[in-house]
Amino acid sequence: MEVKLLRHTPEPEKTVAMSARLCYSPVGAAQLEETMSDEQAAKLVRKLVEMGHFSTLEHVTFTFAIEGVSRVLTHQLVRHRIASYSQQSQRYVKEHDFETIMPPTISSRPEAKAKFEQLMADIQARYNEFTDEFGIPAEDARYVLPNAAETKIVATFNVRSLMNFFSLRCCNRAQWEIRQLAEKMLAECKKAAPVLFENAGPTCVSEGICREGAMSCGRLDAILAAKQKQQ
Ligand SMILES: Cc1cc2nc3c(=O)[nH]c(=O)nc-3n(C[C@H](O)[C@H](O)[C@H](O)COP(=O)(O)OP(=O)(O)OC[C@H]3O[C@@H](n4cnc5c(N)ncnc54)[C@H](O)[C@@H]3O)c2cc1C
Repeated sequence: MEVKLLRHTPEPEKTVAMSARLCYSPVGAAQLEETMSDEQAAKLVRKLVEMGHFSTLEHVTFTFAIEGVSRVLTHQLVRHRIASYSQQSQRYVKEHDFETIMPPTISSRPEAKAKFEQLMADIQARYNEFTDEFGIPAEDARYVLPNAAETKIVATFNVRSLMNFFSLRCCNRAQWEIRQLAEKMLAECKKAAPVLFENAGPTCVSEGICREGAMSCGRLDAILAAKQKQQ
């Protein structure tokens, strides 16, 4: 899986801080930008996140190039409606040599792995037969392609939506492939805007709560125990 942060709003933390400051200021955002130091911006951003003044986070967007992921993953990803997506088309790009994503539970079992590889090879052969010998258009031949087929997607999220995405998909209860993606995206965000994302992650990290009930992974208990030890 490859995750690259393609673009983000310049000076994400200042942009958020400026937008929030404007709400309480008689002067305009442009003037505020000139006078606000990085330290002031960081302090305000921390306060906004803590207070839950999340609409200010919507002024900043992050765009990711995501490759080497399965259609299983992108089907889950695009359920996050407050984001924009552009995905490689199986209608216009012929899958004559499609790559696949193999879950570790399969790749670690030699017999299952061999069967998986054989099945993918059979699907590839059928797909090529449909398109090349029967003249079936790619938009119809793709119906035989598996969920495991590799795909590429560009996704743009604003920070409020990203926070929601991380809270759901960095959770240990999320499916392994999208969790891996979310963790890589969060690592990129932390590099670009460390203050904004310092407490981002599953709700046990960001809010100190777990909504999984009996299905909880126990991470919150470990966090609370570590905090108690520190006191
Ligand atoms: C562990 C896990 C298991 C899941 N299992 C399933 C499953 O079995 N079946 C399944 O179908 N899905 C499943 N999902 C997907 C889940 O139901 C959501 O569709 C997905 O996580 C997107 O979340 P979201 O709606 O918060 O995000 P977005 O669509 O990005 O929405 C962000 C927020 O905007 C608001 N919002 C957006 N649209 C509306 C609207 N129309 N009305 C009101 N408020 C809105 C909500 O506050 C929402 O939280 C699962 C997700 C997770 C994390």
